[in-house]
Amino acid sequence: MFKSIRWNLLSWYAIILFAVLLAFGGMLFERMEHLLRQGVEKELRAYALAIAGATEDENGKLKVELSEEYLRHFSSGEKGAPYFVVWDREGKIVLKSDNATQRESLPAGHRSSTGPRRQLAIAGPSGTVVFVGREVRREQEKQRELLGSLFAVGGGVMVLALVGGWFLAGRALAPVRRMSEAAAAVTASNLAQRIDVGKTESELGQLAGTLNGAFDRLEKAFERQTRFTADASHELRTPLAIVMSQAEMALRKDRTPEEYREALETSLKASQRMKAVVEGLLTLARADAKELDLRKERVDLGRVVEETASLLGPLALERKVALTVSAEPVAVTGDSDRLREVVTNLITNAVRYNVQGGKVDVTLAVQKDQAALSIVDTGIGIPEKDQAQLFERFFRVDKARSREVGGSGLGLAISKWIIEAHGGTISFASRENAGSTFTVRLPRAL
Ligand code: ADP
Repeated sequence: MFKSIRWNLLSWYAIILFAVLLAFGGMLFERMEHLLRQGVEKELRAYALAIAGATEDENGKLKVELSEEYLRHFSSGEKGAPYFVVWDREGKIVLKSDNATQRESLPAGHRSSTGPRRQLAIAGPSGTVVFVGREVRREQEKQRELLGSLFAVGGGVMVLALVGGWFLAGRALAPVRRMSEAAAAVTASNLAQRIDVGKTESELGQLAGTLNGAFDRLEKAFERQTRFTADASHELRTPLAIVMSQAEMALRKDRTPEEYREALETSLKASQRMKAVVEGLLTLARADAKELDLRKERVDLGRVVEETASLLGPLALERKVALTVSAEPVAVTGDSDRLREVVTNLITNAVRYNVQGGKVDVTLAVQKDQAALSIVDTGIGIPEKDQAQLFERFFRVDKARSREVGGSGLGLAISKWIIEAHGGTISFASRENAGSTFTVRLPRAL
């Protein structure tokens, strides 16, 4: 179920605010009641002490000497006027105020609060008990008034705060809504759309930035995919056109055996190129789908390098390129066929993109816990502007030259994948018209 953050925030806010108000109001009320109770008690005690002080025992006869004026406190007839009773030792009344109607009897030293009444009794001289009490209806009314105002103010604060909170939460969440709308507008056909980071300040700006970064990567991946499909079709279309035109030409009229042979040879070459492209594509597709299993065996990379170099000797000879190899035996863990593919690709490139009379030096050496293979050529080099894309699929500096020498444009992309799948790295340094150095580093087998 969709649960709005706004409602969630507001409910928590309301609960917390309610608890705070309740605690605050409760404390205020309790404090007030305590003060009132204390005030009444103090007043009653003062009366009781005064009356006890005025009680005298004159030769066995008890007397309470209170002035008329003082007695008027007790007979004012007002609602909250105090009343008193003085009992002697036997419990007989010595004196009582006119308004002391009930026959209360409270042992000395006690207090009571029954209903709207507060009373206390203290011990007077000669075993007398002085009892004083008064109604506290007025105080109780005051308390009720206070409670009423507390509820009114608390309720007001609550409503105001909740309305304010609703608006605030809405304001704070508005950028989230804007962001989700903008993100929803990003579709496969409209990948250039971005969230306006300027409008989403604070922490949300960071989120917007992160999302935009993800969209950037998505857009690039989509672009790469589209370009890759176009490149792949193009790569296959050219040799296919050659095969078809050769066949059509050969069939148009009777040809000499030499002409048939020539047509077949050209077709074969074109088919071989198609095969190379299709195989390369298959390898990459399986690698992308993580379906390409690499064997994990102990491989002597030195032997792989030497064997590959000697297989490529004739190609170097044909191109008039001097190929030298110096390989130490180094053991690595991996798939020997795949590693052979990488070495073949790198040496072939170094020979193909070279000049007549050029050189290719292949060196394999142990460097700490790594096997370092470097292939240095004195060839045409790679222009600086193309270096960043060199490992991309179908990327070639000079398409015509690559095709002419039989390249598929996938070799470096596949090599990079193989080396990285072996936990290694592949890199290069190059200067145009001076040559290139490709370096492969692989972890040594223990
Ligand atoms: P290709 O099949 O075209 O050789 P690669 O992926 O092996 O495909 O190489 C991609 C491109 O990189 C080549 O077309 C070439 O332009 C460039 N390249 C690779 N190796 C070298 C090198 N040693 N010297 C100069 N250019 C090179």
